[in-house]
Amino acid sequence: MRLDHAAGAARAVPHGARDRELAAAADAHPGDALVPAGDDLALAELELERLPTVPGRVELLAGAKGDADVVHGHLRAGDRLGALADDEVVDPELERNVALGLLDHRPVHGGHSTGVEQISEHVWWHPPGPPDRPSLCAVVGRRWTLMLDAGSSRRHTRVAIDGLPAAPDAVVFTHSHWDHVFGAVEIGALVIAQRFTAQKLVEMSFRDWNDDDSVNDHIREELPAPRTVEIAPVDVVFDEQIDLDLGGVTVHVRRVESDHCPDACIAYVAPDQLLFLGDALCASPDGAMTRETAFPLFDLVLAYGAEHFVEGHHPAVTTRADMKELIDKARAAAEGTAPDDDEDAQYFLGAFLH
Ligand SMILES: [Zn+2]
Repeated sequence: MRLDHAAGAARAVPHGARDRELAAAADAHPGDALVPAGDDLALAELELERLPTVPGRVELLAGAKGDADVVHGHLRAGDRLGALADDEVVDPELERNVALGLLDHRPVHGGHSTGVEQISEHVWWHPPGPPDRPSLCAVVGRRWTLMLDAGSSRRHTRVAIDGLPAAPDAVVFTHSHWDHVFGAVEIGALVIAQRFTAQKLVEMSFRDWNDDDSVNDHIREELPAPRTVEIAPVDVVFDEQIDLDLGGVTVHVRRVESDHCPDACIAYVAPDQLLFLGDALCASPDGAMTRETAFPLFDLVLAYGAEHFVEGHHPAVTTRADMKELIDKARAAAEGTAPDDDEDAQYFLGAFLH
């Protein structure tokens, strides 16, 4: 199933008026400088302005104090990054501080397919797979490479990394769910996460993952017991959004309101018009969606003007036309109507009438 998580039992929810105004999305996070205004979002302008500051607070998780956006320190990225200045983690800083040679261009594994494919000028994609492996992407810039989500295990992540043209220098998470983060230790690069994600990861690092009663079947299958779960520490924390200039390609990452989890983030690869959604469009872990949360998110997702969408557990890159169709199905389902023969529509029906 496209959105992965099973819906729960149906029960009635009050019906309300649809609100497809883009303004709803624009109002979702007042003060965010980069909320797209509509389909005509001026991407060229964003690129030209080079996004000189990080609008949200950025800091190292450890030892962060005061107003400095980035605390002096040594960022762990396989020890390839030097100390960052007490300024934002954006183009000039990274350009100064990231050592030459980070773009370790390696040949794609000789001859055989790793399942990784280039899907746009700067983006490589490792499709989702069993038992619950989500989509992983890598955005390859002139200066450095950013992974979008880290994968379910070292094994999963290794397969993805081996298919990339460049070793990742950093990874940013879409949320803290295990299948998106466990593989980060295999990347061995800078870890960037939303604040709540970072907090959850600390909790997860203390959890007993060998208690089989507290883990689900997918974890048991991906990581057979006795399992070793290593949680990569987070290096850079943001609250609402962070913009990363990889050299010739900017990735905007922002937190969104989602029924799936409180720390859902999406990443927009600006020049490629590609939106990486993680599980943001999915229901809550017990299968529920609310129009109050989902509808503004739908507006926001379409407002980016993206032409390509990568979803956490959907085995294809979604076109803009298909995303509009999917969102129309979701809206119809929220009104209580969905065709019997459409899996996505049935998913949304179950979720909205949860
Ligand atoms: Zn998830």
